[in-house]
Amino acid sequence: MARNFRNKGNRGRRRNDGGAFKPNRDSDSPAGPGIENPVIFVSADGVLREDLVRLLRPYGYDLYSFSSIPEASRAMNSLHTLAIIVDMHPEERRHAMTIAGMKQEYNPPVPVVFLSDEDHFDARLEAVRFGADAYLKKPVSLNGIIRSLDGLLEDQHADPYRVLIADHDEARLDHHRRLFLGAGMEVDTITDPVVLLDAMAEFIPDLVLMELYFPTCLGMELAAMIRQEREFQSVPIIFHSEEQRLDRRLAAMSRGGDDFIYRPVPDDYLLASVRSRAERHRRLRKLMVTDGLTGLLDHTNARLWLEREAAQAERRGRPLSIALVDIDKFKTINDRYGHAAGDQVIKSLARLLKYRTRTSDEVARYGGEEFLVILRDSNSETTKGILDRICSDFSEIEHLYGEHKFRSTFSCGIATLTPPGYVPELLDAADQALYQAKGQGGNRVMITSA
Ligand code: GH3
Ligand code: MG
Ligand code: MG
Repeated sequence: MARNFRNKGNRGRRRNDGGAFKPNRDSDSPAGPGIENPVIFVSADGVLREDLVRLLRPYGYDLYSFSSIPEASRAMNSLHTLAIIVDMHPEERRHAMTIAGMKQEYNPPVPVVFLSDEDHFDARLEAVRFGADAYLKKPVSLNGIIRSLDGLLEDQHADPYRVLIADHDEARLDHHRRLFLGAGMEVDTITDPVVLLDAMAEFIPDLVLMELYFPTCLGMELAAMIRQEREFQSVPIIFHSEEQRLDRRLAAMSRGGDDFIYRPVPDDYLLASVRSRAERHRRLRKLMVTDGLTGLLDHTNARLWLEREAAQAERRGRPLSIALVDIDKFKTINDRYGHAAGDQVIKSLARLLKYRTRTSDEVARYGGEEFLVILRDSNSETTKGILDRICSDFSEIEHLYGEHKFRSTFSCGIATLTPPGYVPELLDAADQALYQAKGQGGNRVMITSA
């Protein structure tokens, strides 16, 4: 049978001296509702500092701005920062080593985004050497900065990579299992090829590590079987074996393998291969299934995800709840403040839903200004509690757009699947609850039983 080992790891960033980041905020710093992602911003340009602080707040980023790198470095001890953005003024160059030091004080290191007037090779090389994770040429667009920060936030909230190991040798399998768990990944293992496809469907691995020869079949036959399933066509498969014959190794690659690792292999090498392929797979997959504006699952993939979660809930006899969220009077926002302002509201709600739910939950953009949240192992009361808080926080966000300042609310309908149940009925029930919430004036969360 497939066995599932989880290791969520400690994803919090800690100081290398062992202390955790202090979550305290400066007393005079802006404390707003919504998601608080503190970011250190260093720039000698006072106007840019003021502009960015104001413009990034509605997107959930609180900038703590400083006019010089040493000043930021001194303040850093008391901040729980997501990233450091440095406007790389020529004057600040002499402090660039301090940036490298600030970054390395934490584990994992704090990401650094460089803003620069220059766009030539030497400037970029220097930035890389001082530890820049992103490089933006000035004048920077707000969208460029938000995209960079969102990427960093995304990485911080990312689920661990999921590796499925298929191997008939228990000792070797156990060694690999420990290796990947130790690296913070989730691992599922199978020794009997018969359960391979079930394990794939249930675990949705980011990568399959496969021994080449099983007593009853060949690993490459299993790879071919995996590739026959549309949803698994892009999952990387790495073979490993002592097989020395080049023609057999090539045959394995031609039958759906992405790499062939010759044993014995150093653990570090295997881990690095697995991690880089899993990461690339995640990034590509994300581009394939997500909506461009919000980075959330799109409608089609939300339905597939929901079907899969419903099947799993039924198998495990666990509840599954969904929440349909629809922004109230959204047309008015578009009409009054423009389509771009509307987009901004959609993005801020997307972010709020995503970062206020658990990593095991999924948030999708179900329509223009509609979202679907799928909450695993969650009954309707728990789900209502979560959505009530998000609903109240969202209503307090002050959206700033150009000269305009406004607020927005949403309505939400919740339904829970108690197995056996059907997805269309579940969606209908949530839709009815949403309709009731709208009928009662919006800005509220209602439940209907499926
Ligand atoms: P209700 O309170 O009943 O939900 O009213 P509403 O105005 O929100 O009504 P409805 O849900 O029918 O309107 C959705 C509007 O959202 C219609 C469409 O023009 C707009 N919209 C859809 N997609 C986008 C988008 O990506 N960006 C922006 N800015 N607007 C969008
Ligand atoms: Mg709507
Ligand atoms: Mg609406």
